[in-house]
Amino acid sequence: MGTLNGKVAVVTGSTSGIGFGIAGALAGAGADIVLNGFGEAAEIERVRAGLAADSGVRVIHHGADMSRSEEVAALVGHAVDTLGAVDILVNNAGIQHTSPIESFPTERWDAILSINLTSSFHTIRAALPAMRERGWGRVVNVASVHGLVASVHKAAYVAAKHGLVGLTKVVALESAGSGVTCNANCPGWVLTPLVQRQIDAHAEREGLTGAEASEALLAEKQPSRTFATPDQIGQLAVFLCSPAADQITGASMPIDGAWSAQ
Ligand code: NAD
Repeated sequence: MGTLNGKVAVVTGSTSGIGFGIAGALAGAGADIVLNGFGEAAEIERVRAGLAADSGVRVIHHGADMSRSEEVAALVGHAVDTLGAVDILVNNAGIQHTSPIESFPTERWDAILSINLTSSFHTIRAALPAMRERGWGRVVNVASVHGLVASVHKAAYVAAKHGLVGLTKVVALESAGSGVTCNANCPGWVLTPLVQRQIDAHAEREGLTGAEASEALLAEKQPSRTFATPDQIGQLAVFLCSPAADQITGASMPIDGAWSAQ
C-alpha cells in the first residue's frame, strides 16, 4: 500500500520536466494522477500509459490551456467527474521569457502572468471548497527561487513567482485548521527543457559548448554547482502530503543548492 492510495492528484504542466517528476513521485506513493500539458498526442499517450503501467495507479490526461480560465476550471471538473475528487493540487505549469524590461514584449508579460500565477488562482478557487468539506487537502505551488530573490531580465517571471508565494500564504491562512495545507516549493536550477533552452541561448551568445554553458549557469547562481532533479522536487511534494507535514502550511521551501542563502 502506498501512503497516498485513494488520493487523486492534479498536476498542471506535467507532460514534461518538473511536473512529470512530481506526477511520478505522487504516483509512486499510490495517488491517481491527472496529467496536464502540451505535446504530441501520441507522445502524451506513451507517457500516460507508461506512468500507469509503472505505478499501477489510474492516470488520465487533460489538455487544458492554463492561460484560459474556463479551461482551467474544466480541468478540475474533469478530474472530479472521472476520478472522484481532487485531493492534491500541484500548480506547476510555467513558462519563461528573458529580456530587459524596456524591451520586454507585453504579450510575453501577459502570458507569463496568466500561466505562472493566475492559473493557480483559478485551480485553487475551483478545488479548495471540496478539500475543506472533506477535511483534507494539499495544495503545492511550484514557485521558484525567483519567488524569493530576483535576477536581471526576468521581470514577468520574478513578479509572477513572488505573486505565487504571496498567494500561497493567503490560501494557507484561509485554510488554517481545516485539514488543508498550502505550500510553495522554490527550486533553483533543475535541468529540464525550460532550462535547456536558457543554456542553449547562453552557449550561443558566449560561444561556449553546452557543458561549459551549464557550468557557467550553475557557477553564477547555485553554490552546490549541481542541478536539482525533478524527482527531488517530487519527493518534497510527497513529504508535504504526509501526516508529518500536517502543520507545515504557508511555507516557501527552497531546493536551490544554497542559491537563496547568499
Ligand atoms: P518544462 O518546460 O519542462 O515543462 C513545462 C510544462 O508546462 C510542460 O508540460 C508544458 O506542456 C506545460 N505548459 C506550458 N504552457 C502551458 C499552458 N499554457 N497550459 C498547460 N500546460 C502548459 O518546464 P519546467 O522546468 O519543468 O518548469 C515547471 C515549473 O517549474 C514552472 O512553473 C517553472 O517556472 C518552475 N521552475 C523551474 C525551474 C527549473 O530550473 N527548471 C526552477 C524553478 C522553478
